[in-house]
Amino acid sequence: MIEIKNLQKKFKNIIVLKDISEQVNKGQVICIIGPSGAGKSTFLRCLNALEQPSSGQVLFEGQELIGLDDKKLDQLREKMGMVFQGFNLFPNMTVLKNITIAPIKVKKVDESTAEKTAMSLLTKVGLADKANQYPDQLSGGQRQRVAIARALAMNPEVMLFDEPTSALDPEMVDEVLKVMRDLANSGMTMVVVTHEMGFAREVADQIWFMADGYIQETGTPEEFFNHPTTPRAQDFLKKIL
Ligand code: ADP
Ligand code: MG
Repeated sequence: MIEIKNLQKKFKNIIVLKDISEQVNKGQVICIIGPSGAGKSTFLRCLNALEQPSSGQVLFEGQELIGLDDKKLDQLREKMGMVFQGFNLFPNMTVLKNITIAPIKVKKVDESTAEKTAMSLLTKVGLADKANQYPDQLSGGQRQRVAIARALAMNPEVMLFDEPTSALDPEMVDEVLKVMRDLANSGMTMVVVTHEMGFAREVADQIWFMADGYIQETGTPEEFFNHPTTPRAQDFLKKIL
């Protein structure tokens, strides 16, 4: 589904991503783990062309992302849902409106159909009763679940998550991870940057360990957590586990 070939990303003269070649297959759940500053967010942003690679290629379903015109790029991005650390809901819109606005405006879905879909997604994330509230009336965990429902409303083929639980109070982390776990079990292709090692161990098909601008090591959770091969990963795991 996504193919990354010799991806390199520089900001001025800092090389943040050095030479990354990997692929994401349909239905896979990839968890990207690594120290802060490793380049994880930059990598994720290159996958949906929020950042332009300095060299190398990112292909989504065989289609090269670099050099597309804005219209083509928007069409491709619609297939990639993204959820960030911060809660980027529209504060002046109800939960329901937050979820229906893009399908209505971008996909030209009619309002009643969009609302039906939104309600079924809200039910899925356990928030059907919050449809008419505003984001500031919700807890952080609830807002993040709405953000997931909003991304799903575009019917994406892959979901990208960048530390979706990092900004949450500890007691709210599990409710968000549960929604992500359900999504993974439903067969959604997912690329998840996370510090939640329990989640990664349980849900990931593949762990990609990233440090110093490289994916240093890939493997199943069993391989990565129990038998890390690179000194960099061994050192990282020693510090966090
Ligand atoms: P991570 O998500 O693993 O913590 P990031 O991808 O956010 O890492 O950042 C990797 C490195 O790239 C950091 O040193 C960061 O300062 C740098 N960086 C990220 N975005 C920019 C930018 N827009 N301009 C300059 N440097 C950046
Ligand atoms: Mg980051």
